[in-house]
Amino acid sequence: MTDIKIIYLYAYSGDLVHCNQCEVNMLVPTGADKCPHCYFEGALQWINESRKETTVDELDINPEYATITKPDPETTEYLSDEVLKDEFDMEPNPKHKYKTMNKLHNKHPEKRPTGQCTVLELAKRLLDLNIGEELNFSENQDGSDYWGAKYMEVFEQQVILFGYYGGPSLQLYEIEKDVLADMVRHLGYHLNKKEEDTIFTFDVIKPQNEEAYKENIVSSYFFYMWNAWCKEECEKIFSWESPHFWEKWCKFAKDTACGAAEKYYADLSDGYRIMLVKRACEIYDGNSRKKQ
Ligand SMILES: [Zn+2]
Repeated sequence: MTDIKIIYLYAYSGDLVHCNQCEVNMLVPTGADKCPHCYFEGALQWINESRKETTVDELDINPEYATITKPDPETTEYLSDEVLKDEFDMEPNPKHKYKTMNKLHNKHPEKRPTGQCTVLELAKRLLDLNIGEELNFSENQDGSDYWGAKYMEVFEQQVILFGYYGGPSLQLYEIEKDVLADMVRHLGYHLNKKEEDTIFTFDVIKPQNEEAYKENIVSSYFFYMWNAWCKEECEKIFSWESPHFWEKWCKFAKDTACGAAEKYYADLSDGYRIMLVKRACEIYDGNSRKKQ
């Protein structure tokens, strides 16, 4: 099977680009210098140097592409603050700003690093972990902005799960393919470092009961799906994309809800799984519903 590129259509005709920040392929209004999907400025690059501009009609007849129509973005969604001010005399809309993690809330272990290595070496070490093993690391010697990565088996899939200590971030990488370059790039982004830069490693802080912790996430997911999941929840999580996800759910639960939560999870792609699991863990703590 050849790789079919999914293109989000943010314009009828315009520039065919890829965002290096959110990894989405898009057709954006001509001259866009900000990603209308994640609002990051300066991460757009051409998908195809020899065909920079195209139209929806051309994409639709090309078997290499599948398209998903998006709402037309406002000017403040695809032009950088600078261009808006200088060329259009317009004020940027604060709602259309890339949201970085709030690092102020990042607690960190008051510890000295136990080692250091380059970003590339770290990536290799992560990919060499055994199931259940974990690495903790930080861009800073004092342990601030501290990350943990763990190689886990979740629903029979092997993944590397990243967490931002004390922060809201959670990311998941499947590790079937050769992902070294991809891992280096993601680490570089999270840690704000280049491949050969130094990062610091720390002793892993053992949760009191690791198995219980894993069990808790899985329980939270199931109890959420059994007791709380509904159309409104679907809308909360997937917003305007929710009709698609609700329809998908209805297909799995059509004949019997038995096993639907597992099948639904398996059918979602990484990014959407994370959104769902995050929500489940917000609402449920294992088998008990949290107070809201
Ligand atoms: Zn983006």
